[in-house]
Amino acid sequence: MADSAVVRALEPLVRMPASPLTGDNQVGGRILPAPRAPRLKVHSPYTGELIGTVPDSGPDEVAAVVSAANAAFRGWSTQPIKERTQPLFRFRELLLQHLPELSHSAARECGKTIAEAQAGVEKGIEVVEYALSLQNIDAGASLEVSRGVRCELRREPLGVVAGITPFNFPAMVPLWLFPIAVTLGNTFVLKPSDKAPLTAAVLARLMHEAGYPEGVFSLVHGGARAVQALIDHPNVLAYGFVGSSRVAQQVYVRAAERGKRVLALGGAKNTIILAPDADPALAVPGVVASFTGCAGQRCMAGSLLVAVGHCDDLLDGIAAAAAKVRLGPDMGAIIDPSAAARLREAIERGVRDGASLRLDGRNVAPPAGYESGSWLGPTILDRVPPRSHSATEELFGPVLSVVRVPNLQAAIELEQQSPYGNATSVFTQSGAVARQVGDAAESGMIGINVGVPVPREPFSFGGTKSSRFGHGDITGAGGVELWTKLKKITSKWGSATDGSWMS
Ligand code: NAD
Repeated sequence: MADSAVVRALEPLVRMPASPLTGDNQVGGRILPAPRAPRLKVHSPYTGELIGTVPDSGPDEVAAVVSAANAAFRGWSTQPIKERTQPLFRFRELLLQHLPELSHSAARECGKTIAEAQAGVEKGIEVVEYALSLQNIDAGASLEVSRGVRCELRREPLGVVAGITPFNFPAMVPLWLFPIAVTLGNTFVLKPSDKAPLTAAVLARLMHEAGYPEGVFSLVHGGARAVQALIDHPNVLAYGFVGSSRVAQQVYVRAAERGKRVLALGGAKNTIILAPDADPALAVPGVVASFTGCAGQRCMAGSLLVAVGHCDDLLDGIAAAAAKVRLGPDMGAIIDPSAAARLREAIERGVRDGASLRLDGRNVAPPAGYESGSWLGPTILDRVPPRSHSATEELFGPVLSVVRVPNLQAAIELEQQSPYGNATSVFTQSGAVARQVGDAAESGMIGINVGVPVPREPFSFGGTKSSRFGHGDITGAGGVELWTKLKKITSKWGSATDGSWMS
């Protein structure tokens, strides 16, 4: 009789569609045909097979979607927020009911394991829950500012707004954006990643089933041309962008030049400071999960380990635990062959730059049946020169660069020199060391004995330096700032006066 471990190993890691899916631009439940747009092909990182196509929209396709979103804005924005929130209750229920479908869809198009994909959807649901609370907390303010004169502060929606999202969280990052934006009265156009756009169609279907009026939530597919057309369109007034720093900066500049509001979150090279007194029970799994989780393809991956002083036993433990991470069941695939080739080249370059290859993931066998996918096992480069490519650049794969430094001050200086500023973690048992790192680190999100310091709602999410272009955070109170404008109404209804010229 087959033992249960063998049965599990033979189960498919992800379910592929029977035939390639056809993704479309859509306004609510209505498909907007795009006959003149070429089709973009979507391949699964697990097998390389074609799993879908979407239109490569340009200005005409974008204009059609924006026109519907614009038409819906007035009716939607004038509903009281408590009415606007009702479909979101249903949407949350639908997300929970369709968790397996969403998780499989995200996993097969971006390479995550099912468990990781599900965690992403669940994190997105937290933002939905925050948006559900807005009807009770977004009350604005009102005060009698002088005798008989009252000032009222209101938050009003902007109009048509857009979200542009990356491949690595096909459900979570869109869910960071549109639940808050639409609840606040905006109509929303989502342009998902061209590499992983199919989960967005599931979200669009569920938004329609939840009962949102047509035009409140729309989907437009494509790549750079669609993004540029969205930014150039005069009726789209604000953007939430999440992706690489290079594109984040371009999007930020293009939108700002047109006088538009934009928050663009970029890439990262996150530092983990390992102190010699760190508790191995926290540090070893914490570091390994940080650099191998989502195959290192997340903006919170700890990819630079700065080992302070004598950490050899801890590093041995990290290397041994990382060597046990199985491709497939424990760690997913790399998004595409060119990203996998880029990672292999970065490993070779790290060695050329003087690093020693402590764990080489290049020859780890892919899971049986998935050999045609893009894979790389956990890799550790040790004694990496601090200014070299693998110590400073975002590689976006399961590659940990270990830099050795003599003391905590040197570790902090390395952290401060990073051009990125998403996350910094420290593993230590000393409150003083933790405090010193927390005070001096320049990243926006700090972990103390936490390898992936993703804040939970309502604490929002956002980095510093070239991990963020624009002001504020993307969810929580930051999302409310991003997707609303302030209006102050000063009124006087009686003849009472305080005699001041200031009303
Ligand atoms: P990407 O920058 O290539 O793509 C992001 C989005 O921009 C996609 O929708 C894509 O279609 C579009 N795009 C691509 N090229 C463009 C161009 N020239 N002009 C306009 N739009 C363009 O990013 P990716 O590879 O999909 O995602 C990985 C990157 O995202 C990593 O750098 C990762 O760190 C970052 N990321 C950051 C966060 C964060 O919160 N800071 C979260 C997730 C991912």
